[in-house]
Amino acid sequence: MELRKSDYESYDYRKFWQDNKRGYEDFSERKAIRKLLKNFEKKGTIADIGCGFGRLFNEYNDFDRVIMLDYSVNNLKNAREVINDFFFKNKSAKKPNSLYFIAADAERIPIKNDVLDMVISVRLMHHLNSPERFINEVQRILKEDGCFILEFANKRNLKNILKFFLGRTKKSPFSSEPLYIGETIRDYHPKIILRYIKSSGLKLIKLLSVSNFRISFLKTKLKPCILTKLESISQVLFSSLKLGPSIFVKSVKKSSNLFTESIDYVKNNGSEDFLDISEILVCPACGSSGNCLIISGEVISCGSCGKKFKNFDGIYDLRNKSE
Ligand SMILES: [Zn+2]
Repeated sequence: MELRKSDYESYDYRKFWQDNKRGYEDFSERKAIRKLLKNFEKKGTIADIGCGFGRLFNEYNDFDRVIMLDYSVNNLKNAREVINDFFFKNKSAKKPNSLYFIAADAERIPIKNDVLDMVISVRLMHHLNSPERFINEVQRILKEDGCFILEFANKRNLKNILKFFLGRTKKSPFSSEPLYIGETIRDYHPKIILRYIKSSGLKLIKLLSVSNFRISFLKTKLKPCILTKLESISQVLFSSLKLGPSIFVKSVKKSSNLFTESIDYVKNNGSEDFLDISEILVCPACGSSGNCLIISGEVISCGSCGKKFKNFDGIYDLRNKSE
């Protein structure tokens, strides 16, 4: 069954996070990202794919270049507001030298091969029809040694296992097929996603089990400070069991050939960074790259196939809608 696209054009995703209703999940996800970013030099270009309204922007604002990418133009407009507000309130926060907003399909990312230093993607995978295609796309756009932080919804979580053994659901959390939550969400067995990562050529570095106590009676009974302490300890402790409803994985793009790897490392040592976004964009219709997209006022046109795209006041709409 194909997933219906979530309609973030008419729904303000900020509402989902408002009033601190999901303060515990927000804390848990940030904690995981900080653990995975530890010791990573925040330089070069990062893309947040499925960035939503930019909730996590302040976890990576100190990169040199930031690309906010989402399918929803509405989400991107909100992200721009959230980011402006963040810098207004945090005058001393480091600003990226360049910040871009791109509306695009995550399964067909309009970015050239081997150009990004890091990709982060949180709460996107469960909306995609082909997580495998998305992971392959990320592998393609990352530089050698580029890093990918990916979050996905885990169907084989403790709550689902308990429900299954208590007879409250017939859907086995152990089977390999995805678990549908309504028409717009799909949760996965960790072994399937880890298999896609491996077959894409990315090398798994670390895995964290996240939001481990997202069980309503625990969330109401335990004090927030106890809950956050337990979460912090359990992310690593539970990583081998993978029982959390959310799994974070860190993987790195490595060449399979050691000799090539050493040469590429020298070649990619920060020298090939782009000056203008048009240098790294790819036409989503014909796949042409290398300054083929000409941005002129409100129109972006492909010099190769002639297809036209829109530029909404700095938000590049590169969704290939006729497909
Ligand atoms: Zn084209």
